[in-house]
Amino acid sequence: MTTASAPAPRALEHVEALPRYVTAAPAPAPDAVLLASNESPFDPLPSVRQAVIDGSARLHRYPEMHSGQLRAELGTRLGVRPERIVVGTGSVGVLQQIFTAFARAGDEIVFPWRSFEAYPILAGACGATAVAVPLDAAGGIDLAATRSAIGPATKIVLLCLPNNPTGTMPAREAIAEFVAAVPPHVLVVLDEAYLEFTGAGDETIGLLARHANLVLVRTFSKAYGLAGLRVGYAVAPADVADALRRVFLPFGVTALAQLAALASLRAGDELAARVAAVVAERERVHRLLREHGWRVPRSYANFVWLADPGRAAPIGDRLRESGVLTRVFPGEGVRLTIGTPEMNDRALAALSGVRPR
Ligand code: PMP
Repeated sequence: MTTASAPAPRALEHVEALPRYVTAAPAPAPDAVLLASNESPFDPLPSVRQAVIDGSARLHRYPEMHSGQLRAELGTRLGVRPERIVVGTGSVGVLQQIFTAFARAGDEIVFPWRSFEAYPILAGACGATAVAVPLDAAGGIDLAATRSAIGPATKIVLLCLPNNPTGTMPAREAIAEFVAAVPPHVLVVLDEAYLEFTGAGDETIGLLARHANLVLVRTFSKAYGLAGLRVGYAVAPADVADALRRVFLPFGVTALAQLAALASLRAGDELAARVAAVVAERERVHRLLREHGWRVPRSYANFVWLADPGRAAPIGDRLRESGVLTRVFPGEGVRLTIGTPEMNDRALAALSGVRPR
C-alpha cells in the first residue's frame, strides 16, 4: 500500500530530460489540408488495401519475426543478400535499433542539426550524447563541420539525405567522400527516408560494397504511402544487421505491415507515377514561392522549407486559420509538405497574404 509520503517511482534522469516528439494536431478538422507530416497525399493503392484485407484472415497468428519474405524481395530489387536487410517498426524503429546496438552513456552520436527531431530523442534515450552540428547559412548540411565534430567518443555519425526539414542534400560525390573520410570504427548512418523524391538513382547502395561501417535506412512511410502501418528497413553489413536483429522488439513489424509493404514493392510503377506527380508539384510550389519572394532552399524531398526565423509561428497560424496544417519550427521556419495540386493551392493562397522578409 502506498502512502502520501512514500517516494513514487522515478524514471531515469536522462529519460526525464528527453525532449518530447511533436506531432501534428491529434484530431484535425475533417476538411483540414494535412501538410504537416510529409505523408503521401494519395489514398492507398487498391492492391495494397486488398493485401491487407486478405491478410486479416490470419490476425490470430504472429507475424514472421524478421519479415523474411519482404527481405527476400527487397534483396532481389536492391541486389543485396537478405541477411544484410533489417526490417523494423518504421524507419524510426530501425534508427532506435541502431542507436541501441551501437551507443550508450559516454558515447557520442554526431548529426547535422536542424534535422529530424527523433535523432536527439533516440540518442538521449540510450544515454548517449547528441552532438548537433549547425547547418550552413543556406540550410544545407555542412559536411566538413560534421566530419570535424567526429571525436574519440563518437560511435555513430548520422546524415539525413535529403535533410528534414530543409529538403537540402549535398552532391553525390561529396557524400561519397564524406563516407570514405569517416574512421572505420565509427558507424555511418544515412537516413534516406525521402530517397525516392531525390530523382537520383540508388547510388548509396553502391557505397555499401566499399564501406563495412555504412548503414542505409529507408522507409515505406513516404513514397510508398504506408505511414500508418509502420514499416522501414536498413541495409547494412551482415554483422551490423545481425546486431540490429538482436535488439529488435520481437514481432515489432505486424503481418499486415509486411503484406502491405510487399504489395507496394510489386506496385512499383504506380508508386513511381505518384512520386513523379509530387516532384512536379514540389517544383511548381518552389517556383511560385520564390517568385513571391520567399527564401526557399531547393528541395529534394516531398516538402519545402520556408525559412523565416522571426515569424515562423505567425505564418503557421495563418496557414492553420486557412485550414492548412503544416509543421512549424518556432524561431526557425515552417515546413510545408507537398500534397495534391489542390492542397498546395490552398497553402499558396494562404501564404499569398503574407509578405516574405
Ligand atoms: N527519417 C526521417 C528523416 C523522417 O523525416 C521520418 C519521418 N518524419 C522518419 C525517418 C521516420 O519515418 P517512419 O518511422 O515512418 O519510417
